[in-house]
Amino acid sequence: MKLVSFQYRGQVRAGLWLGTEALDLQHALELRQLGGDLSSVLAIVRGGTPALQLIAELERELPALAAARRPAHELQLLAPIPAPARNVFCVGRNYLDHVREGYAASGADTQLPKAPQFFTKATHTVCGPGAAVRLDPGVTSKLDYEVELALVIGKGGRDIAPDRAFEHVFGYTVANDITARDLQRRHDQWFKGKSLDDTLPLGPWLVDRDSLGDPATLELSLEVNGEPRQRAQVAQMIFDIPTLIAQLSAGLTLDAGDIVITGTPAGVGFAMEPPRYLKPGDRVVARIDRIGELSNTITGP
Ligand code: MN
Repeated sequence: MKLVSFQYRGQVRAGLWLGTEALDLQHALELRQLGGDLSSVLAIVRGGTPALQLIAELERELPALAAARRPAHELQLLAPIPAPARNVFCVGRNYLDHVREGYAASGADTQLPKAPQFFTKATHTVCGPGAAVRLDPGVTSKLDYEVELALVIGKGGRDIAPDRAFEHVFGYTVANDITARDLQRRHDQWFKGKSLDDTLPLGPWLVDRDSLGDPATLELSLEVNGEPRQRAQVAQMIFDIPTLIAQLSAGLTLDAGDIVITGTPAGVGFAMEPPRYLKPGDRVVARIDRIGELSNTITGP
């Protein structure tokens, strides 16, 4: 099941993506005179299994719901959760090859992280598929990409045990953790270099956990102007999803709708010889199989 947020005639709606059109879920509920709140993807995430069952019921009645179907050319897809309630949780250095390339670029010996490295991105970083990512040369000259598997928390919780972690995952989407490398280093803490506006493309849709199956078998990749830059399996993570959720939630409450991005593999621009940063006009495509493709363009000031 692919859930989308989209803009249609000036309104932000939640939809079921059908390939070339979206079913406006709240409108469909009203047409069927059913109760429930499917007015936003966040409401659906909070609604959990009953909300998903309601959507499955609407999906079976599609022929009768023509009035709630919106063709792709009349809508604009947004990030599945376009305005998260709080910062996006992030994991640094979670793929061995990426850790190695980082140390190689700085000329130091590789040291494996002993615990997940958590940081956050500000909420205004979130933008949707197709969104333009602005490169202001007065702010940064070293903008870089990072394809990552993003997960959305369903059932909230604290002190979540690793073997219960997936019960707290609502679903998955594709993320591009765009980073201003010069700011990341200048300010020592990563927050500033990771938090410029529109530097977290997310989407194009949120796939629910049970539809997706085992995320460890996913492959993620990224290309810039058609040139392959990153490719890896989620199974190559140093700290897997249950470990990340358990350690992040230790003494820290996770809420429904929280977004966690899980780290990027090797192939980022700063570690290339010489480094290759993003420039205006670049088209960056991040892909994860069984989820989809997230494409964004870099624009000038
Ligand atoms: Mn990252």
